[in-house]
Amino acid sequence: MSSIETPRPIRGTQDIFGADAEAFAHVVETFERVRKLYRFRRIEMPVFEKTEVFSRSLGETTDVVSKEMYSFEDRGGESLTLRPEFTAGIARAYLTDGWQQYAPLKVATHGPLFRYERPQKGRYRQFHQLDAEIIGAAEPQADVELLAMADQLLKELGIADGVTLQLNTLGDGDSREGWRAALVSYFRAHRHQLSEDSQDRLERNPLRILDSKDPRDKPFVADAPEIDDYLSGEAQDYFGKVCEGLQAAGVAWTRAPALVRGLDYYRHTAFEFVTDRLGAQGTVLGGGRYDGLIETLGGAHTPAVGWAAGIERLAMLVGGASEDVADCIVVVEEDALMQEGIRSVGLLRNGGLSAELLSSGSPRKRFDKAVKQQPRAILALSSQEGEVSSRFHGSDDDEGLIRAILSGNA
Ligand code: ATP
Ligand code: MG
Repeated sequence: MSSIETPRPIRGTQDIFGADAEAFAHVVETFERVRKLYRFRRIEMPVFEKTEVFSRSLGETTDVVSKEMYSFEDRGGESLTLRPEFTAGIARAYLTDGWQQYAPLKVATHGPLFRYERPQKGRYRQFHQLDAEIIGAAEPQADVELLAMADQLLKELGIADGVTLQLNTLGDGDSREGWRAALVSYFRAHRHQLSEDSQDRLERNPLRILDSKDPRDKPFVADAPEIDDYLSGEAQDYFGKVCEGLQAAGVAWTRAPALVRGLDYYRHTAFEFVTDRLGAQGTVLGGGRYDGLIETLGGAHTPAVGWAAGIERLAMLVGGASEDVADCIVVVEEDALMQEGIRSVGLLRNGGLSAELLSSGSPRKRFDKAVKQQPRAILALSSQEGEVSSRFHGSDDDEGLIRAILSGNA
């Protein structure tokens, strides 16, 4: 035993391995396939940005900016932040990289995000998201397209059955202001019965009270004024078109009149895909329209809509995907045949089969070790009277294929 203590991992980070890692990869691969079907262009974004990219666009009063960001000064004295979400960085790139020329721009990405939260099941400090955005599109069809893509993703992952799309509209700027004023006067009347957080939100960000998970707030949230009474004709019309489009696209949804998203910049459509199979962490995918965001970063008015989905939560719903067994394990039963083993396993891989070389440990035990891994086939190499001889275990078809690949006749 070494007397050097091993450093512990950081709380709220994860080392993902085995079946969990396979499920994670399956979610990402399915997303990659679906985003191509919908013709979203792949982008890669920096993991950190200047802090103002997030503080200006998300709003100083949001939980993310006020409590959850990993911000630090770098060696040059600049305040930087590990991205807590994708949208702000993508909006920044849209402006600084001249992506306006591609509008309406459909982009997708995935990767790690960082938030200083209380770690628990389904909630981490480093987690991972899939993300899809349509920037420079004001039409309700853009919202429909994005929701149809999310819906197809969940269907292709085989988890759509337990997941519901909850849909709301926050209206245009005027509708939202009217509703906000009504919420403030309603909640003021109950001020002292609200949670401390919600009393604070009342002044700074009253819509967010509707988002509260505190049981003290729930009864008041249930009876709060609803957006529908404050929607302008235009906002009603917009929402109507989104609903009709979803109908045409075959996407099922339910109306959630108290659904507001955690961030300041949302307008019109807001939505979450929710399941009751993950306990308190039931939102797997969320998003909406953020027509005001790009202006907060100094750009021209640019309508946009997007969503993000937690890869870990999706992977938990998908369940343990098993790690694939090898198509063929090549067993080197005599060390003198090592080169032959390396050559064979290489030919099999070039031929498109997943193959593993088993050439360590006691030669006589290697074959049994291979059997324990339950591959589709085993090829065992030994020598007889100076010639390489090989025993095959597996189906006749596989033997035909594998011998053809090894002899160059495939
Ligand atoms: P929540 O209400 O669960 O905190 P949120 O509104 O903060 O979610 P978004 O910012 O909309 O979440 O992020 C989109 C998705 O990312 C969430 O629906 C969830 O699946 C996932 N997600 C968010 N925060 C975490 C986290 N700390 N750990 C794991 N997944 C997360
Ligand atoms: Mg959150």
